Parts: sequence; structure tokens; C-alpha cells
Amino acid sequence: MDSYKLFADYHTHTFYSHGKGSPRENVTAAIERGLEAIAVSEHGPGHMSFGVRGKKLERLNDELISLRKEFSGRIEVLRGLELNVMGFGKSDCPPNRDDYDIIIIGYHKSVPPVNSVAWSVWRESLLHIKNDPHRNAEGILSAAEACRANIISHPNLYLKVDIPYMAKCCRQLGILLEVNSSRVTLSTEEIRAICDAGCGLVIGSDAHTPQRVGDFMLASEAVDKANAWEFVRNARRL
Ligand SMILES: [Zn+2]
Ligand SMILES: [Zn+2]
Repeated sequence: MDSYKLFADYHTHTFYSHGKGSPRENVTAAIERGLEAIAVSEHGPGHMSFGVRGKKLERLNDELISLRKEFSGRIEVLRGLELNVMGFGKSDCPPNRDDYDIIIIGYHKSVPPVNSVAWSVWRESLLHIKNDPHRNAEGILSAAEACRANIISHPNLYLKVDIPYMAKCCRQLGILLEVNSSRVTLSTEEIRAICDAGCGLVIGSDAHTPQRVGDFMLASEAVDKANAWEFVRNARRL
């Protein structure tokens, strides 16, 4: 079997939200693991408990700009953000969206829904009634399209989605689906369905400590099982 090397971790957190390390520690950890690119992609401002917003978000961005300069030639430091789905077509995307290198969007709890359709989906998902995976996928996709997201993080987490449908739409929109290495949220069959739709995958550590930056173990096992490496966009054949 061919072997693949993962060269970038686009999904890491720091103490700016509820992680443990600094952006600098994430960058140096990524260099130690032999990565070529690292993004700090903090929780978007809409998350009630972990969201990074206002002056704090500006400080984080300034820090990433200076780290990018300092580490230039050794690793590419990217500015990312993990936005929250807040309703159909709605996220906490900041007005300066284009200043970011990587926009991830995911469904998280502790996010106030911003429209009535969202309220009904939220209520149903919390009560586990009438939870329609196709409608959930439509909601997340409409928010992802509106903010021109690059990646949808941990599909199925907290809210089951129709993966074949989501993959078909993501292929058209140029959005990658994440195999999250903190908790794999996709079955082998679902990963295969994503490949069958021609949609790209990305593996993210979702590290909340520097020790976990570039930890791709669980996701790699899942991709192995699904024989899906050729679809993983942050992996290169050796
Ligand atoms: Zn997340
Ligand atoms: Zn995350």
C-alpha cells in the first residue's frame, strides 16, 4: 500500500479559547512534528463560552501575523477561524472574512440560534425528536456557503447529517469535509461515500494542547480503513 505524509494541520486551538497552549507553542510543536503549515483556527465569536471576539481576536490575529514573519522559511503560519453554524445561512463570520487564510465551520452547542428555523432544528436536536439529517445538512451547508468556508469540521458531531448529500454539495462548492482526529465522526461507509461523490477530505487534529498538534492518529486509521488517502488534501503520497 502507498504511504502518505500529512503536511499541514489546519485545525488547532489555543488558550485564546479553551485550549491550553499559546499560538507560538502550537507553531513550534508543528515544526517538531515536521509539518509544513499550521493554522490556529480559534472558535468564532458566536460561541457563548469559547468564542474569541473583539480586541482578543484582534490580538490573536496580530500575534499570528508576527509569528508568520518570524517562522517564515521554516513553516507557514496561517490565520484560521472555526466558525459556528448559527442558523440556516447564518454563521458568526466576521466582516473581515477575507483576512483569514482558512475558514472552518462546524456545528457546536452553546451557540444561540439566530433565526426561527434554526431554533426548531436546535430544539429538535436537543430533544432528539424529528431530527432530519437531510435538513441538518442543508442548514450547515447554507451557512458554509454564505461564509465561503474551506472546511466543514467534524460532520455529524452533535447533529446527524446526510453525508452523501453533504459531500455532493461540498464538491460543487469546493468545501472539504474533515476527518477529525480528536473524535472520528464519520463511519467507514460515510468516508467512502464522500470519496464516491468526488469530494475532498482533510484531516485535522482539533488540538487543544500543543502536545496534540499534528496528532492525526485516529483520523489516519479511519482513512486507512476506508482506503481514502487519495482524497485527503493535506496528505501527499511518499
Ligand atoms: Zn469544533
Ligand atoms: Zn475545533
